[in-house]
Amino acid sequence: MAVVLGAIADDFTGATDLANNLVRNGMRCVQVIGVPDGDPVFTDADAVVVALKSRSCPAGRAIDDSLAALAWLQRLGARQIFFKYCSTFDSTDQGNIGPVSDALLDRLNAPQTVMVPAFPVNGRTVYQGHLFVGDRLLNESGMQDHPLNPMRDADLVRVLARQTDHSVGLAPRAVLSEGPAATRQHLATLRAQGARHVICDTLDEADLATLAEAVVDMPLVTGGSGLGQALPGQYRLRGWLADVAEPGRLSPGSGGALVLSGSCSRATLGQVAHFLEHWPGFALDPMKLAEDGAHLDAALAFARDRLREQVPVLVYASADPEQVRQAQAVLGTERAGQLIEAALGHLASVLVQEGVGRLVVAGGETSGAVVSALGIRTLRIGNQIDPGVPWTQVPVTDQGRPLSLALKSGNFGGPDFFTRAFEVLP
Ligand code: ADP
Repeated sequence: MAVVLGAIADDFTGATDLANNLVRNGMRCVQVIGVPDGDPVFTDADAVVVALKSRSCPAGRAIDDSLAALAWLQRLGARQIFFKYCSTFDSTDQGNIGPVSDALLDRLNAPQTVMVPAFPVNGRTVYQGHLFVGDRLLNESGMQDHPLNPMRDADLVRVLARQTDHSVGLAPRAVLSEGPAATRQHLATLRAQGARHVICDTLDEADLATLAEAVVDMPLVTGGSGLGQALPGQYRLRGWLADVAEPGRLSPGSGGALVLSGSCSRATLGQVAHFLEHWPGFALDPMKLAEDGAHLDAALAFARDRLREQVPVLVYASADPEQVRQAQAVLGTERAGQLIEAALGHLASVLVQEGVGRLVVAGGETSGAVVSALGIRTLRIGNQIDPGVPWTQVPVTDQGRPLSLALKSGNFGGPDFFTRAFEVLP
């Protein structure tokens, strides 16, 4: 098996976003959840994306997990390593973008890497090293108030310099506009001057294409999903990719169709309401879950009945902010969340055992809980349902049936996401 790109992502939904973009640009892609070990359970992937939880943990742990993922990807023969982080450069002065990049460079024995967080289609651009979200500088975009990694400085050269002892350079737009050869030359000049990390300006897709051509031979690149859109074209030009007509083609699961929703985002609430106009649903109440097992049993019985009738079924904890506040006031925020995540995880594992073959999960944390309840470590990435959310496939379940799984983080997806997902699957 020839893996071309081995990616290490610092969170789960970021990993899926990158994987989705790689598939859309012609690569067959697999996502692995958590630090991988043992032999891979897939054979024909052009790209493998390892999803870590290393964005906000202590730098030492992020480095250890990233190096373990690197070693595994090297065993698969990955030609290029991609360290994927958020397009808003989410990190603190302690890391983890600088420390992880340094550790990967050391291990790869590579002299330099680039930092390309920009994702122009989503309004993330970089100019003179300053990151913009839409028409606002990063530190005026709302990200200055992020609970875990507040971004109070938009100058990425300065931000990164606080995270590494090595020198940080800039590849400005003026150089990019002269083309890939000039950009490569500029990177070489910076390298000779000792710049180990290079923040790259990016205003649009053309800049991404220029950068991809300039960095395709670097052992390590770093950045957001935008660079992930541009690199596959370069791999294809070099003949590294097999011609696959439909890289996102999966063998869709059959059997019951189930939606589990633990997200309370505005987008998800709209999707729940839309689904209930067409199909039945069961509202999970965290207060009742806290009483005894009867409420969860009722949810299970409801789902089983509807699945027997062969209609799609929804079980949701999604509720408006006032209801959520009430539950949190009584139970505590953490316990309310845990009760719901445990309940949805339980429903997933019982109902998949009993024949559900198509499962949609809404909510980032909720997805994590469901995937771990199902014991899933590897997902094959299929075609996207809505921007950023692909169908995925678990190679085989215990019974040898494929399971189709769509994991949607809160704000993603159009209003009809829950119904349309099943329509586009075949
Ligand atoms: P999102 O991607 O929208 O942020 P998450 O699943 O990551 O969704 O987070 C939503 C959190 O809210 C989860 O921990 C979930 O268990 C919790 N939650 C869901 N519904 C309720 C509710 N009715 N009351 C309290 N907490 C809830």
